Amino acid sequence: MLQGQKAAASSKGPKVVIVGAGISGLAAAAKLSANNINNLLVLEGKNRIGGRISTIKIGDRFVEEGATWIHGADGNPILAIARSIGAKVEVWDYAEKIEKAGWHRKNGRRFSNAEIKMLQEAYKTHLAIIENMIFTECKDEDFLHEHRRQNVLNFFEEVWEEQILRGRTGEEEEILRSSLRLLYHKECQDAGVKDIRDCAIHSFAVYETLQGYDSVLPGGYDKILEPVAREIPESAIRLNSAVERIEWNDGVGGCGWHDNGKKPVRVIYNDLASGRKETVYADHVIVTVSIGCLHRYGPSTFFPPLPEDKTSACKRLSFDTVNKIALAYDQPFWSRDQTAVILLADDVTLGKGEHWSRDLIQFNVRGSGDARWLEGWLCGDHADEVEKLTNDEVGKTCTELFRKFVGPHVPEPTATHVTRWGSDRFCHGSYACLNSDTTGDDIDNLAAPLPGNKDATHPLQLLFAGEATSRKYFGTVHGAMFSGQREAHRILRHYSKAVGSVKGCNGVDSKVLQQLSKV
Ligand SMILES: Cc1cc2nc3c(=O)[nH]c(=O)nc-3n(C[C@H](O)[C@H](O)[C@H](O)COP(=O)(O)OP(=O)(O)OC[C@H]3O[C@@H](n4cnc5c(N)ncnc54)[C@H](O)[C@@H]3O)c2cc1C
Repeated sequence: MLQGQKAAASSKGPKVVIVGAGISGLAAAAKLSANNINNLLVLEGKNRIGGRISTIKIGDRFVEEGATWIHGADGNPILAIARSIGAKVEVWDYAEKIEKAGWHRKNGRRFSNAEIKMLQEAYKTHLAIIENMIFTECKDEDFLHEHRRQNVLNFFEEVWEEQILRGRTGEEEEILRSSLRLLYHKECQDAGVKDIRDCAIHSFAVYETLQGYDSVLPGGYDKILEPVAREIPESAIRLNSAVERIEWNDGVGGCGWHDNGKKPVRVIYNDLASGRKETVYADHVIVTVSIGCLHRYGPSTFFPPLPEDKTSACKRLSFDTVNKIALAYDQPFWSRDQTAVILLADDVTLGKGEHWSRDLIQFNVRGSGDARWLEGWLCGDHADEVEKLTNDEVGKTCTELFRKFVGPHVPEPTATHVTRWGSDRFCHGSYACLNSDTTGDDIDNLAAPLPGNKDATHPLQLLFAGEATSRKYFGTVHGAMFSGQREAHRILRHYSKAVGSVKGCNGVDSKVLQQLSKV
């Protein structure tokens, strides 16, 4: 039991089952509990809470398998939680990180200081292009009208030509062109897509960037979970419980479970520890599983099946794999104040059909002192490919790469850890993104509760939360948290609790709570 945790769930009041103990599920449960709905059961398939927030330890190093950054500071509930528990927060200044990066070319050839300066400037120009696009251009209807469906790569190529390559010739141009691959890869990683051709400009317009700095939690992102979980009665969270079937009543003839006037939804889950199937009946079920799971297992889980607009949104939104490679060394081979190791190959081709290691361009230096380590990222097909290899095989390939670029002195890592989000049966992907086939309305369709008919005898049987249901903040931890609170709020409103009387949780200010119905 966590210190200060509520003792027991209650059997009184409406029964709410929450599928998934990621941040959205925990936030939903915490908010319901804070408002005296304690007849709660949070069913989590894994043997831990947190979902895509997962910190592991390699020696003294806190390694993030999933979420790394707290994106934005103003109104970010995750930062508020971190501050409230006194967690160490480190501001992540992207421009400064690039200033202190080590740049390497193939076969030990070195960049001159002037070339490094030029590369740093190109990177900063790209950051400015993005900032301008998010905060200025995407607010301009004329710009959006012209570019809404344009794929992001296509757009960047035009501005890169104009703002980075213009006037450059010879070797300078070659070097700059090779650095575009780094920028391309950064954008794939940020959007969570295998190819930024799959990402449309309007994604930047629908998504709202919280103002203020990005930051990381050197002591582990998972520190923010405990204060949220503490607000939930301990007995309400059941780990190793994989939900397999959700039977509900769609109010127009489809009926998975005849409630005889009792609970309208029947949930069947597999207790993975005992192998027994368990059944629980609920008034409301909040589904928070990733859209990777919803897409793959939805048809066999829901009866009656989910409506077409929901399944179609789920299928069409981008939800590719992003994986990380963590490399630990006894003796860092990079210099003490270095922030990243960047490997720039000479060729400039962007895209598919290459060896997975070609995408390992930037390794961020994480941790501090002797507990420093390198973090590389892979997206899409390359991220899927790496899941078929052992950690050691991946470590060896990374060493070969470093020896080619940095020099033969680079040692083998003492430990390599590769994440496997694509094949994770409780995730099947990483984070959602809008592509040119989807709009913010698809996100709203995903988030809409069922049955859709407002006059249904049993309204709000199925509610949907999770990062991909957050129109403004999809793909993020704060978006996921807001979405869980939003659905809890929907239930509270249903039971006639006025918005003003709904208590917040964990430092989320009341203005933010008032906005929840819109996230
Ligand atoms: C590699 C990576 C890097 C990221 N980096 C960042 C970042 O830097 N900053 C940021 O803000 N966000 C980042 N994200 C995204 C962020 O982690 C997610 O948006 C957020 O954690 C999602 O929370 P959630 O509650 O919506 O879903 P999840 O965390 O996926 O929670 C869903 C839960 O449901 C459980 N579940 C699934 N199926 C079942 C079932 N059948 N029965 C029972 N339980 C089930 C899962 O085990 C999981 O615990 C990253 C994600 C990844 C993968």
